[in-house]
Parts: sequence; structure tokens; C-alpha cells
Amino acid sequence: MSSWQENIRKVTPYVPGEQPQGTDLVKLNTNENPYPPSTQVNETIAKLDTDRYSRYPDPTASELEEALARYHGLKKENFFVGTGSDDVLSTAFLTFFNSKKEIIFPDVTYSFYPVWARVYGIPYREVPLDENYRIRVEDYLSGDVGGIVIANPNAPTGISMPVSEIERIVQANPGCVVIVDEAYVDYGGETALPLLEKYENLLVVRTFSKSRAMAGARIGYAIGGKQVISALYDVAQSINSYTMTYASLKIGVASVEDDEYFRSRINDVVATRERTVKELEKRGFTVLPSASNFIFARPSDGNAKGIFEKLREKSIYVRYFSADRTKEFLRITIGTDEQMDKLFAALDSM
Ligand SMILES: *Cc1c(COP(=O)(O)O)cnc(C)c1O
Repeated sequence: MSSWQENIRKVTPYVPGEQPQGTDLVKLNTNENPYPPSTQVNETIAKLDTDRYSRYPDPTASELEEALARYHGLKKENFFVGTGSDDVLSTAFLTFFNSKKEIIFPDVTYSFYPVWARVYGIPYREVPLDENYRIRVEDYLSGDVGGIVIANPNAPTGISMPVSEIERIVQANPGCVVIVDEAYVDYGGETALPLLEKYENLLVVRTFSKSRAMAGARIGYAIGGKQVISALYDVAQSINSYTMTYASLKIGVASVEDDEYFRSRINDVVATRERTVKELEKRGFTVLPSASNFIFARPSDGNAKGIFEKLREKSIYVRYFSADRTKEFLRITIGTDEQMDKLFAALDSM
């Protein structure tokens, strides 16, 4: 006899980093920003019109798309906004990856990509990074795949690739959409945005969760040519017409308009990153070259798991990935200088 359980879609979900609660902990495990968002965000929240909550928000997120268009020097029709870049990426997978050919992405990258591929039934292949944990461009030039996803800078390696290499990939694959996930680009990567003038098969995805210190607001966006953006809208609006709350749209605009604060906090994180690299190297770690707000570091004996567990006992949370190629590394988010000093002290006491 058949049972209803047989009809369940069986999936293994993505597992995000822990969100431990408490005040006395050092949280360096999910690449959040250690600083608060712009004070313009607070002021905007104080002025929100609560009467507006009885109405649906703007389904086209116009205000935020216009602010982003001004910021990037593009047009509103080049933008698609969603609830975090996870929502935007997932919608992009559903929209663009409908070929019978497999989509490809690196074997070491954002571990949500294979999860979306599986939940949507998209065939995929993971392409190994080289021995230095770099993306080998040659592996992405066949022109015979159903889609390509590249995080640039990549995660969890932190390594960025030059836009000239992204261009070779986009150019060699006119038959599919190339998604470039720029979640960390503000920390030193090279953006693919200038390529949008030349290529219609490119989609660049950004988030407010990292460099804009707004992970809790859930704002992400895609930038692309008119046709890819309108295709994304068609799919998104076939599922849910109103993904962005009225409040998120308002505070998103407030953040985009305070560029001075944004830039100064990026500089703070980058300065702390450079200091952290030196301190960890002094302690025998090998650190991959990071253009992000985190580093991927291997202790001299490769026992990353042991360090991860001991740090956790001291309420210092970093991220550990047990897969074969990543099991000797720790991914450490760059916090404030004070937080990093606690990390160094804990490492010294082991
Ligand atoms: C954090 C992250 C995202 C998702 O961020 P959202 O909070 O959903 O905007 C997407 N891609 C990469 C590579 C990330 O690290």
C-alpha cells in the first residue's frame, strides 16, 4: 500500500552556522559584520509609518531599486531585489537553470549551491579547485554546460579572481547564464559589473548581509541586463508577490545613501583582517590570500577540528567544514580588534 510519506520531496538542507545567544561570546562563524548598520538606518526605523503595515508593500521594490540604480550608475530595470541573496540566488537557479546539461561550480564554494540544485532537480557537477584552492578558468570554458555559478571572492577560501577571468568564462558560454555571487566583493574583490554592458548572459548578485551589516534585514539583489532581470521577476512573482517588507525597503535605501559610513567600516574590517593574518601567521597558521571579511586558515598540524572545539568551549565561535578538502582549515570571520585579540589569547592558551 502506498503512503503519503512516499510523496514527500526528500532533501538534505543547507546548515547555516550556529547562532548562539548570549552577550559573553565572540561570534566569528557566519561572516556577519561586527559593526552596526549606519545610524541613518536607526533614524529611518524611528520614523517608520506603522499605518503602512496594514497595506501590502510595493511588489516592485521601486524605491530601493532606484536607490541602488543611482548608487551603481545603472537603471532601475537592471535590478531585482529579494529577501537576502539566498532568495535571489535560489530564484535565479529556478529561472535560468532549466537545461538538461549540468550546471557547474567549484567543489569548494558556498555550500548552498548544491542544495538548490538538488531541491530544484538541476543536474550539477562540482569542479575541483586547483592545489592552491584557486578556480582554474580553463575548466569553465567548454561552452557546453547548463549554467555556471562563481562566488567572487570565493567562500570559504576568501580568494578573489580578476574580472578578466570572469569575462573569459562569460564570453565562452553564450548558451547559459553565468551567476557571479559578489557577497564579499566590497572587501577587496574586482566586480563583474562593467561586463554587463557587453554580455546579456551575466547576473551579478549582491547582499546587504555582510558589508552593509544588515543580515537581520534580509536584503539581497541581482544586477543584470533587462532580459535576465525581467525573467527573474516573472518567476519570483509566480511564487510570492510581496517578498520585501515595507521596513526592509526603507532601511535598505537609508543604508545605500550613507556611503561614507559604509566605506569607513569596510576599511576598519580590512585593517583588522590584515592584522589578523599577521597574528595567525606568527602562530604557525597558513592563511589563504583573502579579499573578504573572513580568512581561511590552516593550523600547522592541520588539526583544525581540535582548535574549533577548544575555541567553542571558550565561547569563541568560528566555522569548521568537515569535507575532505576543507577539514584542515578554519574559516574565521573578521570581528573587531577586541574580538580578534580574544581569539589570539585563546589560541595562545591552548
Ligand atoms: C552570506 C552569503 C550569501 C547569502 O547571504 P544573504 O544573507 O542570504 O544575503 C550568499 N552567498 C555567499 C557566498 C555568502 O557567503
